[in-house]
Amino acid sequence: MENTTTRLHLLATYLRLRFGARVQKVPLDAGFSCPNRDGTLSRGGCVFCNPRGSGSGLGEDGLTLEEQWTVWTGRYARTRNAGLFIAYLQSFSNTYGPIDKLRRVLGVLPELPGIVGVAVGTRPDCVDNERLDMVAALPLPEVWLELGLQSAHDATLVRINRGHDAATSERAVRDAAARGLRVCAHLIAGLPGESSDDFLATVAWVNRLPVHGVKFHGLYVCEGTALARQWRAGEYTPLEREAYADLIARALPRLRPEIVIQRLTGDPAGNELLAPDWAGDKRATTARINELLAQRGTWQGKDVARSAMNGLGVSPAQAAPSALAAPPAWFAVPPHRLPGAAPRLRDTGDTPQARAWEAEYAAACATFPHLRPVEDGE
Ligand code: SF4
Repeated sequence: MENTTTRLHLLATYLRLRFGARVQKVPLDAGFSCPNRDGTLSRGGCVFCNPRGSGSGLGEDGLTLEEQWTVWTGRYARTRNAGLFIAYLQSFSNTYGPIDKLRRVLGVLPELPGIVGVAVGTRPDCVDNERLDMVAALPLPEVWLELGLQSAHDATLVRINRGHDAATSERAVRDAAARGLRVCAHLIAGLPGESSDDFLATVAWVNRLPVHGVKFHGLYVCEGTALARQWRAGEYTPLEREAYADLIARALPRLRPEIVIQRLTGDPAGNELLAPDWAGDKRATTARINELLAQRGTWQGKDVARSAMNGLGVSPAQAAPSALAAPPAWFAVPPHRLPGAAPRLRDTGDTPQARAWEAEYAAACATFPHLRPVEDGE
């Protein structure tokens, strides 16, 4: 059977290329809040907001960051054989609130055992120069800012009670990227009042911004949210799985090939999901997206116009033209980066395929430095 993952630049592959080993994201709850829930902007939050803030709940149970880390890394070491980890500050808006609190939290992270990176989840209106500088100064090879952009359309952002506009999102992305932070944009398909074209316009917008990663989510309805009331009243209908998979399979070829796909669909906790049922089966949705890409003979970045890359200061000659003719070789993990192999690029065997792979990967790294493998001592 065809290896469909070679049609996408997936996070697991990217991290394996960088570190030569499995790297696992560890969700942490640092006890931050959100201006859209604490009354600063509103108390209801975004219409889809899970009152738990997408968190693990461990913070609410009173566990310190170090204790949460021990719980998760122990579990991942046992179940997934992981030894390297990225701390993911996931719950609520992790740059909101007193700056000293952020300083304290960020001070703890680099000392955690096995840590190779940090991903800070937040809202675009909760970052300023001081906070971005603080995150960018973390002494780790992978430092990401995960921004909930959701939509490029201000009318939608109002409809979902987001509390910020698209211009604020753009500014946050540019300010973060200018400091060397890797930006992961969260986007939602199936937002109330949005058409397929609206979502594809959002993807085109993100493609023009200096983002390094994207998380796609299908909007689902959770108990206790404003969206649940709309859904019960028949005012909101979620996308069917086929419509969602079709939309993502149409979006991916329009996305730059070096952008890391961190998620193809959301992952609701089973006990809080009201609709749609299919949102609870992430594997089936991912499989359908991959199937559609294969059926259509397409892949991430295939339809990207080189002019879009020019907006990022990438010349047409640098824009990995082979990615437009076939999936880049570096969408797949090369043999010398697989478990048990020597984790160094220069240890590649001297075979024609290995040399071709190295040449293509070196060209990609020259264009997109964040793809570069981490060397010893970095
Ligand atoms: S920004 Fe996030 S935490 Fe805040 S209300 Fe919206 S979904 Fe909830």
